[in-house]
Amino acid sequence: MLETVVETMRVVIAEDSGPSRLALERTLAKWGYEVIACKDGNAAWEELEKEHSPNLAILDWMMPGYSGPEIVRMVRAKAEAAKAPYTYILLLTSKNERADLIEGLEAGADDYITKPFDQQELRVRLRAGVRILNLQAELVAAREALRDQAMRDALTGLWNRRSIIEILTREQSRAARQTMPVGVLMMDIDHFKDVNDTHGHLAGDDVLKEVSRRLLASVRPYDGVGRYGGEEFIIVLPGCDVASIQSRGEAMRLAIADQPITAYERQLSITASFGATVFIPPSTLDVADLIRTADDALYEAKRRGRNCVIYQSSPVPENAN
Ligand SMILES: [Mg+2]
Repeated sequence: MLETVVETMRVVIAEDSGPSRLALERTLAKWGYEVIACKDGNAAWEELEKEHSPNLAILDWMMPGYSGPEIVRMVRAKAEAAKAPYTYILLLTSKNERADLIEGLEAGADDYITKPFDQQELRVRLRAGVRILNLQAELVAAREALRDQAMRDALTGLWNRRSIIEILTREQSRAARQTMPVGVLMMDIDHFKDVNDTHGHLAGDDVLKEVSRRLLASVRPYDGVGRYGGEEFIIVLPGCDVASIQSRGEAMRLAIADQPITAYERQLSITASFGATVFIPPSTLDVADLIRTADDALYEAKRRGRNCVIYQSSPVPENAN
């Protein structure tokens, strides 16, 4: 894994001495780095300031424009302000007095190498840098995986209850700002308790997973599908108005009812009931009101014999007129 990253890793080098820059450039290219070579400090900062800048840099100490330590300070300040990924920085110096090295490291450099550089030494120090960058990337990935896990329902992979309410809250305030509608569907699998009681909980789990898959397959990438509770789901449809919510719900209803679901080696006919409502600005209804309205509509869908989509308009608050 280390080697793959080394092969594709981009590095900024800044060195005003032509022969030294060329030697560095050739050596790094030979090792598989993608090299961005700069003749002075200002050009190096221009590269490192970019949004997707390389996260490895070798900077000369003394050069026209910004000095190596100055760039280090600016890179660290930028990372702190923008929460940017870490940049591993090696200072290149002909100075080897202790006081100078301390100054460079205090500026935030990770390591240094003295000129004229020894190839083996450079290789070993770069490898240490790449190892740290890889570890950091793994930590970031692990943190993101944990965050994602905390937002998902473990069985179905859909948004969990807290996340889908957050999504609805976010979409509703966006809709209010942009004067756009948001459709909300509350869905419940019909007679789900019977599936569990007759075929067991493993079959029930299979049904939940397959229903979730079919729901996801019938929405757009920016719609939100969440498991609200046991066999209840909420679907958030940004931009969906009163004219289209019925057909959107109908498409989902058919996606579930049309084909039997294979659950624990049995073919089960599964249906679901849907309650629909639409948030229409300048309505000031809150998320709880919307969920309550969709839930009322779902109750009505159950009462009318299930396997159907019932729309209920959100009550218009008195102050909206
Ligand atoms: Mg120089």
